[in-house]
Amino acid sequence: MRYDIVIVGAGIVGLATAYQVQKRHPGKRLLVIEKERGPAIHQSGHNSGVIHSGIYYTPGSLKARFAKQAGISMPAFCEEHGVRYDVCGKVVVAVEAQELPRLDKLQARAAENQIPVRRLSGEELREREPHAAGIAALEVPTAGIADYPGVCRKMVQLIELNGGEVRWNCRVQQVKIGSEVAQLITPSGPIETTLFVTCGGLQSDLLTAMAGVAPPARIIPFRGEYYTLKPDARRLVNHLIYPLPNPAFPFLGVHFTRMINGEIHAGPNAVLAFKREGYHRTDFSMTEMCKVLGYAGFRKMAKAHWREGMHEQYRSFSRHAFLKTLQRLIPEITDADIEPAPAGVRAMAVKPDGSMIDDFLISEGRFSMHVCNAPSPAATASIEIGEYVAERVAEKM
Ligand SMILES: Cc1cc2nc3c(=O)[nH]c(=O)nc-3n(C[C@H](O)[C@H](O)[C@H](O)COP(=O)(O)OP(=O)(O)OC[C@H]3O[C@@H](n4cnc5c(N)ncnc54)[C@H](O)[C@@H]3O)c2cc1C
Repeated sequence: MRYDIVIVGAGIVGLATAYQVQKRHPGKRLLVIEKERGPAIHQSGHNSGVIHSGIYYTPGSLKARFAKQAGISMPAFCEEHGVRYDVCGKVVVAVEAQELPRLDKLQARAAENQIPVRRLSGEELREREPHAAGIAALEVPTAGIADYPGVCRKMVQLIELNGGEVRWNCRVQQVKIGSEVAQLITPSGPIETTLFVTCGGLQSDLLTAMAGVAPPARIIPFRGEYYTLKPDARRLVNHLIYPLPNPAFPFLGVHFTRMINGEIHAGPNAVLAFKREGYHRTDFSMTEMCKVLGYAGFRKMAKAHWREGMHEQYRSFSRHAFLKTLQRLIPEITDADIEPAPAGVRAMAVKPDGSMIDDFLISEGRFSMHVCNAPSPAATASIEIGEYVAERVAEKM
């Protein structure tokens, strides 16, 4: 059988894309294929679970536009389909006086992006988060938390209910582009399709290259490690407490997140993973590491940012250093309050010149589209990314 469209990858971006394509083209034969045994096994199931409001992003960028819309669409999806979520708001905290100009800038950025925020004094901050340090803060009421694996499971149900197919344990190993159709080669045989979209997360550059399209960047995997607060210490955090982002590395910054199951996570840091899907310190792939070290873009990035890299690495090995970072935001936390929690791995798209691609990025081939970069807040904005891809699929069809 020939499919009209195949989506590769059942993370939240692939599933939201399938969901949106199906909405636009209800009669088309649609298939989602995923190499793992179920949805959200990689980034979509190993993240902070935050509905980001969009205050940080460059005005006019896809991230800024989509995150703002997602503040409405993600809670609406969860509400309609019975997935757990909570628009609990968050605070971004200035701990020292020298951080106040950065807090002002963030407030101005939020205004540019038309995201409502409220400036809090130290006292007002402690009315909301009694244990937080800080002399001032921004309260962002539209931020929240969601059960993203739950969103993924629900999307799978909806796709199947509407006549689409989803195949697990089905890895695309090769792509053959013919004159009229593409063939996706998998261990269980070739799959013929008129059009396909790759949403491969940590494998996105490899899938793009398989389709004969030059990826704009190489994916470098960065592990994000977390601690969790022991049940007795959960009282220290009500909702979401964030530090001010470093403008050069907005994705860095250990924060406190109340997860949808009531746990409080603290993290993540960002250290080079020695394997694309390397969730543990000991996970190592010689082949993958040789490719990373042999990539000029990685070497340039490492040369430019080695200081931050060393700091993150140190914090990975030193529980004490991690704790000190946490104590900046919640001074009462002690070593007895925390225990390690499962890590996630981020797909960082690094260009040959060593710079990182910040915005969402989608490339096109003759019969294909490729989500080449879908970093945070792509879980929040997945419905919007899916809609954007579906619009372009419609043009191609
Ligand atoms: C530590 C961490 C914290 C984060 N926190 C947040 C947050 O709080 N809020 C937020 O909005 N975002 C957050 N993010 C970002 C968010 O999780 C990701 O941007 C999003 O999940 C990306 O979804 P995806 O579908 O593109 O990728 P993934 O979820 O990684 O899915 C890609 C899928 O493609 C499959 N695949 C790959 N290659 C093949 C192949 N050859 N054949 C078949 N299948 C294949 C993989 O198995 C995988 O299931 C965080 C990310 C990390 C790592």
